[in-house]
Amino acid sequence: MQHNQMEIQCNRLDRGYHQHQAEYERKALEVLRSGNYILGNELKSFEEKFAEYVGTKYCVGVACGLDSIRIATHLLGVGVGDEVIVSANTYIATILGFTLNGATPVLIEPDQYYNIDTAQIEKRITNKTKAIMAVHLYGQPADMLEIRKIAQKYDLLLLEDCAQAHGAKMNKETVGTFGEVGCFSFYPTKNLGAFGDAGAIVTNSPELYERARCYRNYGSAKQYYFREPGINSRLDELQAGLLSVRLKYLDECNKERMMFAQRYTKYINNGRFLLPEIRKGAEPVWHQYVIRVLGGQRERLQAYLAKRRIHVAIHYPIPPHLSDAYKEISPSKCLLPFTEQLSREVLSLPLYAGMTEEEQFYVIEKLNQFE
Ligand SMILES: *Cc1c(COP(=O)(O)O)cnc(C)c1O
Repeated sequence: MQHNQMEIQCNRLDRGYHQHQAEYERKALEVLRSGNYILGNELKSFEEKFAEYVGTKYCVGVACGLDSIRIATHLLGVGVGDEVIVSANTYIATILGFTLNGATPVLIEPDQYYNIDTAQIEKRITNKTKAIMAVHLYGQPADMLEIRKIAQKYDLLLLEDCAQAHGAKMNKETVGTFGEVGCFSFYPTKNLGAFGDAGAIVTNSPELYERARCYRNYGSAKQYYFREPGINSRLDELQAGLLSVRLKYLDECNKERMMFAQRYTKYINNGRFLLPEIRKGAEPVWHQYVIRVLGGQRERLQAYLAKRRIHVAIHYPIPPHLSDAYKEISPSKCLLPFTEQLSREVLSLPLYAGMTEEEQFYVIEKLNQFE
């Protein structure tokens, strides 16, 4: 293909599907023909395999990533009057996951790796602090060893939002295993993506496991016997079956993403950009490759790239504390200059399963030619 005809999307979900198309189609037909569509063997089997992959005893499939956080915090008793320490630089769903239960976010600035700056946590701990919610944004693991130390020192619950970091490791430990519970999304764009909405909780606690299994199904331990008031948040058989197929290739897929990231890091040589750094001991899974565009040039760069048919994304243009959804968090309580600066600078480059070398070098060439 000629370069002048090339068009690069920021993401191409069809490419990932085509990598194993026959297997997905076989599994979809198998489930459709089975007559079991909710809470059957496909879910059970996916939950077992995903728990084993992450390295926890249990996994409970739920309807989406937001629900995994909402259910986990609810069942751990995080609610009205409780404060949760969390990175200000995250997707709004992280925070919605516990503010929907009535808990209050305590927003902390990120470090240069885009995740919570652990040096700023201790001074924000009060007698209302109940939990720390760690987020592994863009597939970069947060500083979990330090965070776990703080959680233990102050006897706080530790939860992880792993929605962007399936398989990422910190000091050889897989994210999702550091605290009480790991929360995952399988939204189609995630590293482990379903073909619709899906999510999961992983834990080593048998009590939390049993309660979550009931809670996602109206609180039912046995059909029509309800232990506690629950909700409907189930992962269906079709998605579970397709996720089992995708899980087999997750490591391979993360390796491919790493190759793309290494290529960007090696070949982008334009001083107008800051490229992502890797924390010592971290093995990121490159959900996004996020650069910082310096000197207030992001908009101009986006227009320049669009003219060359390269589409990029911004994760995220408005941090949660400035969102209309959180008007009640008064800006005077939130001095978050670095979070706000990042929201003006960050840019996610095209990166997806099945991206060709030619596509990537076209993006690199245009980035390097930007003046
Ligand atoms: C995607 C995402 C979620 C929410 O997942 P859904 O499945 O869309 O509900 C939560 N946190 C982060 C960091 C995410 O990227």
